Amino acid sequence: MSKDSFVESTEILKKTVPLMIKHKVPTTPTNYALWYTYTTQQHPQLNLALDLGIEAFGHCPPSLCDSLYQEHLASKTDRDMVQLKQSLAAMMQELSHTMSDTFSATESFQGVLDNTFNQLERAEQDGLSLEDTMKLVRNLLEESRQIQASTGSFQGQLNQAQEEISTLRQALAKSQKEANEDALTGLFNRRAFERDLLSYTQAKQQYSLILLDIDKFKDFNDAYGHLLGDQVLKLVAHRLRERCEGHAQCYRFGGEEFAIIYPNADHDEGRQLAETLRRMIEIISVLDKKTNQRIKSVTASFGLATRAANEPYLAVVERADSFLNKAKQLGRNRVLPLN
Ligand code: GH3
Ligand code: MG
Ligand code: MG
Repeated sequence: MSKDSFVESTEILKKTVPLMIKHKVPTTPTNYALWYTYTTQQHPQLNLALDLGIEAFGHCPPSLCDSLYQEHLASKTDRDMVQLKQSLAAMMQELSHTMSDTFSATESFQGVLDNTFNQLERAEQDGLSLEDTMKLVRNLLEESRQIQASTGSFQGQLNQAQEEISTLRQALAKSQKEANEDALTGLFNRRAFERDLLSYTQAKQQYSLILLDIDKFKDFNDAYGHLLGDQVLKLVAHRLRERCEGHAQCYRFGGEEFAIIYPNADHDEGRQLAETLRRMIEIISVLDKKTNQRIKSVTASFGLATRAANEPYLAVVERADSFLNKAKQLGRNRVLPLN
């Protein structure tokens, strides 16, 4: 790195760190990469997405940081990846050996060239025979073939190294994504849910939590089969995400249970959202391909809890869960508490 770019990046870092502190972002390498890029303003789409996220959520929850990193940077930066670094180091070492072979071959080729030109010059002066001149040319050709072979193998290794890097990078991005994502629905999973709740608590941020559980889903599976059951789960997840986009985060909490964190929402706003979601699920229908009939599929019961100041997140989850159970007891397809 040149002195200038070192000074420049130190300047950027000096602006990045206070920003991360302001938005209560944990100082992980991934987050550094994300916020460093934000500060440079070289990625307008990333800046826009991050600004919108902070506006909506009040701070930057880890799942948002992660998904922005995946979307905007994962293909360009892999700074904290030990595995990648090790493979890169090994590849660079191999390449540098080949490179020095190529360079020494290039140097000796330069010598051959100089020599050949000298001889050609003399040939002109001395009136060298055609045969002698051809010998010189043949010599030159042979040398250049060798150097070509050497450069070719270097290029080959370089290509191979690039392929390996890109495969590793994809594998890395995939495994990071899988760790926080539910495979069936593509929503964030319970691990991401708990991590985000913890981060809201640390940021001392208010939110409403909605837990919902599909009603009598075992009966649905028994009646129409597990595969159609899976379709329903996917559709419910898709609709939840669509409806919450930009102002709340959805998670698959477990089997047929989902959770929604609605940042900065008071109890009434939480209730309104839950009620909207309940009605939205009620009208979902799926096509049973076996009978070619549309099935008005499922309903869901909801429990709502709004975080009181300084309340630990487990208490919020338990409260929402106990309201969800009450909603089941009272006949399902409803949101509790009523107010
Ligand atoms: P309740 O109204 O009391 O919630 O009744 P329920 O039948 O929904 O509840 P229960 O806990 O008895 O059963 C949950 C059902 O959800 C059973 C299980 O087969 C189904 N389920 C859980 N995960 C999946 C899944 O990934 N795919 C499908 N198709 N079904 C699932
Ligand atoms: Mg359940
Ligand atoms: Mg259920």
